[in-house]
Amino acid sequence: MGSCEVKGEAEMLKAIFLPFISTSHLIPVVDMARLFAIHGVDVTIITTPANAAVFQSSIDRDSSRGRPIRTHVVKFPQVPGLPEGVETINADTPPLLTMKISKALPILQGQYQELFGVMKPDFIVSDMFYPWSADAAAELGIPRLVYVGASYFSHCAMNCVEEFAPHAKVDSDGESFELPGLPHKLEMTRSQLPDWLRAPKPYTYLKKMIKESEKKSYGSLFKSFYEFEGAYEEHYKRVMGTKSWSIGPVSLWVNQDELDKAGRGHAKEGKGKRTDEELMRWLDTKKENSVLYVSFGSMNKFPSAQLVEIAHALEDCGHDFIWVVRKNDDHGDKGFLEEFEKRVQESNKGYLIWGWAPQLAILDHPATGAVVTHCGMNTVFESVIAGLPLVAWPIFSEQFFNEKLVVDVLKIGVSVGAKEWRNLNDFGSETVKREGIRKAVVLVMVGEECAEMRRRVKVLSDEAKKAIQTGGTSHNNLKELIEELKLLKLQKGI
Ligand code: UDP
Repeated sequence: MGSCEVKGEAEMLKAIFLPFISTSHLIPVVDMARLFAIHGVDVTIITTPANAAVFQSSIDRDSSRGRPIRTHVVKFPQVPGLPEGVETINADTPPLLTMKISKALPILQGQYQELFGVMKPDFIVSDMFYPWSADAAAELGIPRLVYVGASYFSHCAMNCVEEFAPHAKVDSDGESFELPGLPHKLEMTRSQLPDWLRAPKPYTYLKKMIKESEKKSYGSLFKSFYEFEGAYEEHYKRVMGTKSWSIGPVSLWVNQDELDKAGRGHAKEGKGKRTDEELMRWLDTKKENSVLYVSFGSMNKFPSAQLVEIAHALEDCGHDFIWVVRKNDDHGDKGFLEEFEKRVQESNKGYLIWGWAPQLAILDHPATGAVVTHCGMNTVFESVIAGLPLVAWPIFSEQFFNEKLVVDVLKIGVSVGAKEWRNLNDFGSETVKREGIRKAVVLVMVGEECAEMRRRVKVLSDEAKKAIQTGGTSHNNLKELIEELKLLKLQKGI
């Protein structure tokens, strides 16, 4: 890897990174923090104990490699009814506790802000869900960079819906409309739009605040790379009128070591009985590109009826598979999944993971051949890096936009045919049937269409690897940004 590690310079920049307390925002912001430390920036990540536990092993490894990085842990505030140690928002957090966790955020804000004053950083990088940090940085006279999740593409599409309201011009939720003004001609339906874009909701106002704070910031950081969605990067910069830098794929850049890959996002042992080593040994016995990886990220849980459909589809398609199951507590499957696991374990066709999967290591394994994903952008990038075609099964957040990018723009995946956006923690009314799932899976595992998708995604994978090398687009962006920040510091005469 072409690195430009610059250690111990007199003008060393000092940065604070402030990741949000949900697993899938925490992971890329920590990866970014580690990336800046690789490039000689003195980095302190501020977070709470349970969130720190998710990534601390990576920081310890980086620190032992001589990189200037550490975690500053702030005690999580006491909230009535919130058990100790429950500090992170993900699929394991019951909705009621998620609300209680949110109650701690204003208290944490005060503590974080105090630390800014004490630590005197030259700049801060904070998650988009901390819009207040734009003003806090301005008060200190330092730049705030904002981590904007998702893809440039989805932000462009969301801007387009906000500006032109194309969904208001169709008669029904199922009727297609075009997304006007984007580099590609793309269609979607009203039922695929997030509810906060269809009509004003509390989240609509939060999103507005986030956008305003982004405009007040020095610029935005994306985990993307130019060759992946360059047309949308340009479009985004034009529409927002702000600076932004693609410095990705960050997960590839900082997790080169096998230990980093295996341990990423791994707070504690999962609920399953089998170990990660056993899983990797199982993969070692499989032929190249023969195993399907099925995962719906860190936030989603399906109702039992949907899990049963997935299980049947996996059994019917005939391919070997790894399935990360987030089981719901409704017991609606009446032991079906346990029986299913026993069966596929006996036939050696399938491997169920009940806790946290070592996703980077799985995707990197030569036996893994394709991915079924909810189109969370971390997973999309990680699959692209591994050169794997995708079955796109969007569920919530901006995922239906990401599906368009994967299927219609980049043509590296097929759609499972999901039609209904739903809120996190809300099961909605749609059940995607086993036959549709099976058909999509077969398309990404074998045949001509699969070969074409594999060829296209391999090109992107190679581009991703080039982007982070010396002279590559992301490498240049990061270098230029660091130089710019150094110049700002010098101009301030610190
Ligand atoms: N992830 C993982 N193991 C799991 C589930 C998720 O390592 O069992 C990681 C995955 O590699 C990705 C992130 O968690 O980096 C999930 O982010 P994504 O954007 O794909 O989905 P989200 O969790 O936001 O829905």
